[in-house]
Amino acid sequence: MIGNIKILLHQGMQSIPDITNADIPGPFRGTPVITSEKVDEQALVELCPTGAILSSPMRIDLGNCTFCGECAFAFPDKIRFTKDYKMATNDRSRLIVAEGKAQPIMLDPDLIKREISQFFKGSLKLRQVSAGGDNSCELELNACGNVNFDMGRFGIEFVASPRHADGIVITGPLTESMAIPLQNCYDAVPDPKIIILAGTDAISGGIFAGSLALNRSFLNSHKVDLYVPGNPVHPLTFINGVLELIKERKNNLAEHRIST
Ligand code: SF4
Repeated sequence: MIGNIKILLHQGMQSIPDITNADIPGPFRGTPVITSEKVDEQALVELCPTGAILSSPMRIDLGNCTFCGECAFAFPDKIRFTKDYKMATNDRSRLIVAEGKAQPIMLDPDLIKREISQFFKGSLKLRQVSAGGDNSCELELNACGNVNFDMGRFGIEFVASPRHADGIVITGPLTESMAIPLQNCYDAVPDPKIIILAGTDAISGGIFAGSLALNRSFLNSHKVDLYVPGNPVHPLTFINGVLELIKERKNNLAEHRIST
């Protein structure tokens, strides 16, 4: 026991103390900034492998973006990727970053389901479904629970069974072979339940968009509660997004209690 305490004192706190304001080392690409610099827009649009760049006015759809950085390499005066990792939102249209607008990406409180605020308070259990994923997003989601990011301290955890979960986190581009298993998993989660799309592949299909091997019809009949962009998602993007969802839910609940 004393030996363990000594080790704890020696190692100190391992987890990131403030996950809302962390400094990500290395070449991480977060929310881009698009300046009003005049460039060959057509060339810029054509170099993007996933059609994430839209013209007139210039925009980048982070739901399609693979964060490869090619646009910023070719047009450094036009596009720059910041280290802002807080990119998750519940409004798909907010993933589109427009020229000259350096606004943070946030959740829309009005889109958060009210019934969820009545059932999920300080705890959220999630079942992860890899629907044709390449294991990159899955690895990063796994890292959310390690000693560094320590998502469990916020009451957010992945569980093995959908019957023990409050919602599902989908990764991968939603392949045909995973269409029925995905639906079965979702059906096994008790109501009310949430859906989170983690990663570019899940949000739009990414580089696989339009492939005959995909079946994304699940998304036509179910409301998505949170979009987490990234290729793969960064643990801090995911944890902050889910926390925002919980925080907004708590705010909604407080307002609801005041008004009733
Ligand atoms: S970083 Fe995104 S927008 Fe830029 S070229 Fe790559 S996929 Fe396209």
